[in-house]
Amino acid sequence: MAVNIAIDGPAGAGKSTIAKAVARELEFIYVDTGAMYRAMALYLIRQGITPQEKEKMEEACDKAEISIIYENGAQQVILNQENVTPYLRQEEVGNMASVSSANPKIREKLVELQRILASKENVVMDGRDIGTCVLPHAEVKVYLTASARTRALRRCKELEEKGISCVLEEIEADIKERDYRDMTREISPLKQAEDAVLVDSSCLTIDEVKDTIIELYRKSQEEIGV
Ligand code: C5P
Repeated sequence: MAVNIAIDGPAGAGKSTIAKAVARELEFIYVDTGAMYRAMALYLIRQGITPQEKEKMEEACDKAEISIIYENGAQQVILNQENVTPYLRQEEVGNMASVSSANPKIREKLVELQRILASKENVVMDGRDIGTCVLPHAEVKVYLTASARTRALRRCKELEEKGISCVLEEIEADIKERDYRDMTREISPLKQAEDAVLVDSSCLTIDEVKDTIIELYRKSQEEIGV
């Protein structure tokens, strides 16, 4: 049976960096579910649909075929046969994803895809609702967080490294707004699963967080006698 590690938490907590590192060490597949919501958002933007147009979103979502492939171990998102991975990290796409991901029809479609992936492979999957909704029986569940300021500082550093200037306060406000939307939406809001372990990465290094999760995985395997 496939082993599943679920990592949830707010935007910018370091989920993807940590999940990738854990997956590499355990030789699991890393599944970035945010990238799937972003691919759907990109499709909606390309169709000229605005965040307010809920009905149009639902109609359009049937026409977006999203799948995941791996190239040299890195996840690539395919949207209607086009590899859209290079376009997914833009702010505009992230902002649209934060709104369109609250749509039940979009969630239903992507959750099904995520469950199929996790049933076939050992995965480290990150997102907002993995431990609470997508994989409620995951062997390891982690809720990874950090203060809004820490997350904004990390995001600014990332942008500056790409030569994009930014204002810390604006990035922090954006992060808080996204947290609010993710945590208060009706369907699958971001919250810590009752059986998830809370890890605050504000004062931890990447390796420290990675080792904490690997240790949780080893304990879970010992408990079931593997
Ligand atoms: O994690 P990332 O920022 O790439 O996710 C983009 C958006 O997709 C988030 O703002 C969040 O609203 C949404 N999302 C979600 N459920 C997931 C993963 C991401 O609603 N499992």
